[in-house]
Amino acid sequence: MKKKFEKKELINKSKDLSDWYTDVILKAELADYAPIRGCMVFRPYGFAIWENMQRILDSMIKEMGVSNAYFPLLIPYSLLKKEKEHIKGFSPELAVVTHGGGKKISEPLVIRPTSETIIYAMYSKWIKSFRDLPLRINQWCNIVRWEKRCYLFLRTMEFLWQEGHTCHRTHREAKEEVERVMRMYEDFYKDFLAIPGFLGRKSVSEKFAGACDTSAYEILTPNGKVLQACSAHDLGQNFSKPFKISFQDRDGKTKYVWQTCWGLSTRSIGGLIMVHGDDQGLVLPPKIAPVQVIIIPIFGKGKDFNQKILSFSNQIKKEIEKKGVRVKFDGRTQYSPGWKFNEWEIKGVPLRIEIGKDEISGKFLTLVRRDILNERLKIKNEKLKVKVQELLDKIQDNLYKKAKKFLREHTHEVSNYQKFKKIMRQTKGFISAFWCEDPKCEAKIKEETKATIRCLPKKAIEEKGKCLYCLKRANRKWIFAQAY
Ligand SMILES: [Zn+2]
Repeated sequence: MKKKFEKKELINKSKDLSDWYTDVILKAELADYAPIRGCMVFRPYGFAIWENMQRILDSMIKEMGVSNAYFPLLIPYSLLKKEKEHIKGFSPELAVVTHGGGKKISEPLVIRPTSETIIYAMYSKWIKSFRDLPLRINQWCNIVRWEKRCYLFLRTMEFLWQEGHTCHRTHREAKEEVERVMRMYEDFYKDFLAIPGFLGRKSVSEKFAGACDTSAYEILTPNGKVLQACSAHDLGQNFSKPFKISFQDRDGKTKYVWQTCWGLSTRSIGGLIMVHGDDQGLVLPPKIAPVQVIIIPIFGKGKDFNQKILSFSNQIKKEIEKKGVRVKFDGRTQYSPGWKFNEWEIKGVPLRIEIGKDEISGKFLTLVRRDILNERLKIKNEKLKVKVQELLDKIQDNLYKKAKKFLREHTHEVSNYQKFKKIMRQTKGFISAFWCEDPKCEAKIKEETKATIRCLPKKAIEEKGKCLYCLKRANRKWIFAQAY
């Protein structure tokens, strides 16, 4: 029996990021492997993180004036085929239903790998006039893309996301929508997930299947490789033409709409875990943490004494709760305080309050921040309510600053290809360099260094330079990195 209560040992993050990553997800009980190849189960603690992200992002989406709706999971194969680039991009990863009700069905149905086609079939029905524009809808749903490997959160056959799909009267309006959405995503990443990154436009070879243009937010993981955190696409009229989404404009002429689509998935939880976690486990930004404060009683001998601790802890819990803080009291008696400290550290709870002999008799409480574990703070009882919120804000801020510092230290300006190769072999990270915009150079660089073009930063300016690879004239510096 005793073995069960031994504290959980974690793999060292700096030693092996990938092993640590899986280990911390399993031990913090965020997710588990499903008995289906490529699939994972969101356990309650992991799902609670997604629920928090959903709640925040959903309100940001609605604030932009976009409404939620829901479209079917199954898409007729013929619909998916309508846009050539789109079907080409997705066909290797499609899951297709061929039988229903015990019989072979006349037309195969695809389990959505994304919902452009089913949504646009409806849009063509709903849009008739310029008065019906803009049409802006978002859906929260699951997605299936055939994938045999399972890398928890980051690469799974089924994942969850939101996908926004909008139609506009002019191309300019569609482009403005992409910009607005990317600003929203950037704010969400910075303000809530405390993750800085690069926002910009993708190169032609890296854009979404069927889009004119793709914008993305790229974030840095601790081993110097990067993740695409979310993206938004300017679809131009690539879908509105085959799907016949047209409208009668003010001038009486029939025109095709201009479209955008954009999404953020549960993959973002993978980024969150990697960016902030440490050797002790997860470190969750307070704004996203399912539990922001954990109260751990240090029970002693004697029923009366323990009763005092219990009622004092409950009183503290109520006080903090009143402030709208998500707080939990771990009163389990079968585990020691040390075991619980370890457990909640692995789970990344931002703030811990310890309540023992000194705390119930004195006027001070003992608090420990998850981001600075070796510091024990003594807080006056009457100042607790204010202090807790203050500390949560400080933790949120500190996590962002730390991540920003790491990003800065791992972003280099490089003009020499030898130096570029050396960085990509060693510390990696983001490299800003001139590129002539010829896909051949892009492909060569990828082949020789594994680095791909991540984006042309939003803030990039026109300047004169030489392509990193072919030394021909280049006008802008692009961001390169190895994909995780
Ligand atoms: Zn070149």
